Amino acid sequence: MSGISAAKRLHDAGIKDILILEATNRIGGRIKKTNFAGYTVEMGANWLHGVGGPKRNPLYEMSKQIHLKKFFSDFSNFSFNTYKQEGGLYKDDEVDAAFEKVDETLDYGGKYSKFLNLEKNQDDDMSILALERLHKTDPRTRLEKMIDFFTFDGEQSEAPRVSSLKHVLPFSESEQFGENAYFVADSRGFESLVHLIAKQFLSYKNGAISDPRIKFNQVVREIDQSKGEVTVKTENGMKYKAELVIMSPSIGVLQSDLISFRPQLPIDKCGRFSFVQLWKRRAISEFSIGIYTKIFLKFPRAFWPTGNGTEFFLYVHERRGYYGIWQHLENEYPGSNIMFVTTTDDESIRVEQQSNEETKAEAMEVLRKMFGKNIPEATHIMIPRWKSDRFYRGCFTNWPVGYPQKRHDQLRAPIGKIYFTGEHTHPQLYGYTDGAYFAGSLFFFLNDTR
Ligand SMILES: Cc1cc2nc3c(=O)[nH]c(=O)nc-3n(C[C@H](O)[C@H](O)[C@H](O)COP(=O)(O)OP(=O)(O)OC[C@H]3O[C@@H](n4cnc5c(N)ncnc54)[C@H](O)[C@@H]3O)c2cc1C
Repeated sequence: MSGISAAKRLHDAGIKDILILEATNRIGGRIKKTNFAGYTVEMGANWLHGVGGPKRNPLYEMSKQIHLKKFFSDFSNFSFNTYKQEGGLYKDDEVDAAFEKVDETLDYGGKYSKFLNLEKNQDDDMSILALERLHKTDPRTRLEKMIDFFTFDGEQSEAPRVSSLKHVLPFSESEQFGENAYFVADSRGFESLVHLIAKQFLSYKNGAISDPRIKFNQVVREIDQSKGEVTVKTENGMKYKAELVIMSPSIGVLQSDLISFRPQLPIDKCGRFSFVQLWKRRAISEFSIGIYTKIFLKFPRAFWPTGNGTEFFLYVHERRGYYGIWQHLENEYPGSNIMFVTTTDDESIRVEQQSNEETKAEAMEVLRKMFGKNIPEATHIMIPRWKSDRFYRGCFTNWPVGYPQKRHDQLRAPIGKIYFTGEHTHPQLYGYTDGAYFAGSLFFFLNDTR
């Protein structure tokens, strides 16, 4: 999204001599659909967040333009859909009380964050967990911990002890564009929004990109600006020379050793190395990218409640986030008998490393606790492995506690002739598809950190 958005911005500014090098055979990156047992599901971005406020979210507006099928996500029914570890539902007032506690954190946290953002508190930050302790709303019971997990880990893909109060609360998507979220379920995929932007400046033939200015299967391995101009080298031995380069891979990729720089990042004017000169690499290393895994399962029949107010349900386990957040797709795809469960962080790393069969067995055990021993086995399972994929190394960024604004400015700052974009470079909407969109289209302004 950010790369296509940046290229379109250049094109609109009259700069048409551009070349896009993409490692895979498609555009979209972390916005990726797939066919699962005959239905289109999203392996990456799924929700258009930030809808319903006074300011319009551009991606939502674009989705209306192409009549992308999307469904309002109603998260208000957990009081009737939250299951205990050994089975059986929690009472609705117990669940309501746990949500009230987390709402207090959100409310007080939002206010405290604004206080920390005042000029005189520039270097001050605390984790969301510390704020919870301060306000005495830290989760104590198993149920409260699950509601806390759903609210924070389910959004940032990392736990409140990791997340910066100052930069995470109030949730920037809601603040800027509104609190509603729409779940995309369309055979053209969420990625059709990326194509909608690309079609405005790249040529297409028979529905596929035919423009010679985008080259697929070009894995960039080295960027050399030691000799004045910039030379980009790819894994298959190609060399491209350019006046300027804009880089849009995930921060997970920048943190890995997939792409090397000559001279190393950053360059000292005299070519010397010192700890002071590590600023760029430090800015990249310290920002956080989390893991968020949707495990899709298909069954011979639906054995879970369907109908109004049943779409989302929670399973509460003593282990934080253990097969906790569930969603069925009977609204989107009636009769599909598909549902998915979301894991994050350490649980996701574990799931990525074990076989699909092992994960299926664990998920089935949890489902049997909720719906009884006689439910049928899943016939299909699909698990995206974003962390293990060398072109992503994670799902979306989270602002870690104590990471100063100044360092984020450095994260965005160009080095010589190399500019940086990507969702992680957006100061408020980092993590999201619209953050990626704005980071690309506004990167000239965002990168001007003077
Ligand atoms: C599981 C999951 C769920 C998500 N849910 C949501 C959601 O509900 N709503 C939302 O708004 N956002 C969501 N996101 C986040 C959203 O998908 C991203 O913020 C956004 O798509 C990032 O776009 P980008 O352009 O910054 O990076 P990317 O999409 O990562 O694009 C970078 C591109 O660079 C390419 N590349 C990488 N390395 C190289 C190389 N060496 N050489 C050449 N090319 C390279 C990649 O193939 C990719 O095409 C989710 C992400 C994931 C993974």
